[in-house]
Amino acid sequence: MNSLLQTLSCSDGYDPDSLPVGTAQALILSQLAPVPDFERAFVRLGLDRVLAEDVIAPVNVPAHNNSAMDGYALRHAELSAEGETRLAIVGGAFAGRPFEGRLPPGSALRIMTGAIVPEGLDTVVPQEVTRIEGQSVIIPQGQRAGQHFRCAGEDLKAGQPALKAGKRLRPAEIGLLASLGQVEVALRRRVRVAVFSTGDELCSLGTPLPPGQVYDSNRYTLWGMLTRLGCEVRDLGVVRDDPAALEAALLAAARSSDVIVTSGGVSVGEADFVRELMARLGEVAFWKIAMKPGRPMAFGRLGNAWLFGLPGNPVAVMVTFYQFVRPALLKMMGAEPAPLPIFRVPSLAALKKAPGRTEYLRGLLSYAAGEWRVQPTGAQGSGILRSMSDANCLIVLEHERGNVTAGDLVSVQAMEGLV
Ligand code: AMP
Ligand code: MG
Repeated sequence: MNSLLQTLSCSDGYDPDSLPVGTAQALILSQLAPVPDFERAFVRLGLDRVLAEDVIAPVNVPAHNNSAMDGYALRHAELSAEGETRLAIVGGAFAGRPFEGRLPPGSALRIMTGAIVPEGLDTVVPQEVTRIEGQSVIIPQGQRAGQHFRCAGEDLKAGQPALKAGKRLRPAEIGLLASLGQVEVALRRRVRVAVFSTGDELCSLGTPLPPGQVYDSNRYTLWGMLTRLGCEVRDLGVVRDDPAALEAALLAAARSSDVIVTSGGVSVGEADFVRELMARLGEVAFWKIAMKPGRPMAFGRLGNAWLFGLPGNPVAVMVTFYQFVRPALLKMMGAEPAPLPIFRVPSLAALKKAPGRTEYLRGLLSYAAGEWRVQPTGAQGSGILRSMSDANCLIVLEHERGNVTAGDLVSVQAMEGLV
């Protein structure tokens, strides 16, 4: 009995011949789990990878009460409420060079940003509001108790989680781990992804292009998207539209990886022998997704690996990768499988759209007169990779949406990372 296929077919709204994008995304995510293994590595090697364990702060950050300004540290209770206060300047404290003595009543400590504020002092007055008269500093009225005073542990408290498992490490987290003195971090193992292209018309780089052939570009965009995501990519090359070659490639991929991503060979006309083969080797569903571009897609299990059979058209490969494979891989990486962020901006152009499928147009977000707006990047054919290269976002026209009038708000997904 086919258990995966049975589970899928029992899900709400399951129609493999017209599956809404959201249903397909949810079905895929419901099947996947994070890879269990993790490894310890030097903190810098964690960039873009996913924390496998909570990191508990072993120390307070900052470790001591310290000054947020250059100025004078003092006791707020000694300041006059009615007018100026004169305090004797006793010593100085610098970042990395604390003041060791005791501060007698009626005095202030010259202090620099980051220097320890000694016990008993509670307020820092910036030097630019003060006046020096001989060995004294004159403090104006109206200082707030506790101002410009950074408390020990105000950034991170010892014993509390500084970062949670599942966090993808960006430059801010790498710095934060360093601020805790962490030399090593526990990282989820990278997800291993095998990639191959299918098609008799595909020509590999480094050979002249025979008539009727095209260079295999999908393995290159897939390599780029997978590498950006932090996966370990295994490139299995081009596989001919031949059952024996395809079977050998699928079996090799399933042995060596967590995920197999193929492109081509799942569209009507081609899918039949692939379908038969996959039914024999594993459990794979063939879907027609209610979307443009990227209608046909296969998803399932071969041995211990998950399979994503993406369509062949170069734009469809990228769009289906971003909508289905990216969140799936994030989940397997142990991170939050959030979709690319969506925000809404006015469309500069009128757009034709029929309800009943989600359409992804390649768009150009631009900024003028204080506002972001979007326009499509010209020809939108699913084979025209230049439309992706000219774009910095996808315009998402939702399933139920109809035509767009110029000036209407549309959803966009930025294709560039924010940090
Ligand atoms: P298929 O889904 O195999 O029918 O392919 C659909 C279209 O995408 C055809 O025009 C193919 O030539 C093209 N195509 C398929 N695979 C690739 C690839 N790896 N690189 C570039 N174009 C491809
Ligand atoms: Mg093909």
